[in-house]
This record gives sequence, structure tokens and C-alpha cells, in this order.
Amino acid sequence: MLKGIGIEVRFEKEGISTFDSGSDLLFSTMAAVAQEESRSISENVKWAYKRKAEQGIRHLGSNRILGYDEIDGKLMPNESASTVHLIFEKYAAGDAISQIIMALASIGAHTLRGHDSFSYGQIMAILKNNTYTGDRTLQKTPHTNYLTKKPDLQEPYQSKTIQNDHTAIIERPLWDAVQERLESEEQKRAVGIRTRSGTNAFYGRVICSVCGLPFRRVTYKERNGSLRRFWKCTGRIKGICSNRTIAEEDITRALTEQDMISVSAFAG
Ligand SMILES: [Zn+2]
Repeated sequence: MLKGIGIEVRFEKEGISTFDSGSDLLFSTMAAVAQEESRSISENVKWAYKRKAEQGIRHLGSNRILGYDEIDGKLMPNESASTVHLIFEKYAAGDAISQIIMALASIGAHTLRGHDSFSYGQIMAILKNNTYTGDRTLQKTPHTNYLTKKPDLQEPYQSKTIQNDHTAIIERPLWDAVQERLESEEQKRAVGIRTRSGTNAFYGRVICSVCGLPFRRVTYKERNGSLRRFWKCTGRIKGICSNRTIAEEDITRALTEQDMISVSAFAG
């Protein structure tokens, strides 16, 4: 890539430059050798993981878990277990992820790597981790491809769950309540209600007064080529509702003029 954009790379130990005439063959040979080496290491590591999984040996590696210490291959709850429990409690009680993040910051909770602020992704990963129930799942995810460094979905892998392997941090009823809410949030997202930040502020807030489904943002091209945003009932998109489509500027205007009465028909 560097050579392609005119940048020279010199390898001091080998005494060669990417700009040398005839270096191409040398480099492609070296690259092939390096790639083969990487593949062979990758195969060895995968083989070792598989054998360990078969023998029921946990491989935490860099995947340490908040709330547990690994002592002689056994998971033991540590002082962060209360942080984990609080996350589950608050989520089950209906708190938004952002509220949970703020609550954690206010009590000075720390992440696994010692940061004092949790991310959305970290909270979600904790809520979905069945290790907290005392179960242990070996080989949860596919192996990583040695070239792309991404999970290799082509290669088969076997996952195996051992129940009551270690001390639970989360009781089953609490775990079940959390999984239930995660699932229902997932379903809401599927019909267009978005509560995550980063999406349009009207998502999940404009609800149809006729069929009760959320409105979705649509873009139409005007004759002069400019784009206009509208909000359309999900039911109308599916053909089960005939409520009218509203121009986005009508919603914003109504909101900024604080004309809440005319908007209340559309905005929940
Ligand atoms: Zn509708």
C-alpha cells in the first residue's frame, strides 16, 4: 500500500528497500513466508483451545470478567460483584442504559480496566453474560480468522454449557427478568422504536394516534432534486393504517412554537 502511494520503506536488518528494482519478488516471497507462519501459529492456538474446551478447562486469556477473580482456574466473586448486581437490578427495574451509566459514575464504580466510566457496549455485554448466573459456556464465539482478525463464521465450533460451575452473582429470577427486557427492547427496535442515542430524536416519540405504531422517518426527493424528510406511520408502510404522513418541519415548527396541542395528535 505504501509503495503504491509513493512511500519508500527500508528494512534495515535485511538491507533492502521497497524501491529497489527486483525487490518485488523478494517481498512477495517474504510475505508468503510470514503469512504461512501466521497461519500455522493460528492453527496451533486454535487446536490448543479446542483440546482445553474438551477437557473443560477455562481459558479466560484476556477475556477477564468484571466481578470475578480467577483463582486456580475457579471463578470467585470479588468486590466488583456488587457493581454487576447493581447493573442487573437497575436494568430489570426499567432504567435506561444512560441512567445506569450515570448511577455507576456517581458511586465511583470502575470498569474491568479501571476506567471510571462505562460504555453502552460494556453494560450490554455484562447484561448478556450468562457467566454471572454461575453457568460456564466454553467456546462461546467462533474462532478468529488469522488474516482478517474477525470471527470466522465458516469454521464450525462447538459451544458447551456447564451449569452451576461457580458461585453466581446474579440470581436466576433477576437474570430471567433482564433477559426478558433485553428481548422486548430488541423487538421494539425491530418495529422502529429507537431509544439509543445517535438516531433521530423523534424516533420512538412520534406514535400513530390511529393504529398505535411508531412513525418512521422517510426521505423523498423533490422535483428540483432537494431532499425532504417526512414521518410516516409504520402501519401505513405495512398497509394496515391510513393516517397521514407529516413533514418533519411541521413537527419541529409545532414543537418550537410550543404549539403542543396541534402536535399532541402525533407526538407521544
Ligand atoms: Zn398508523
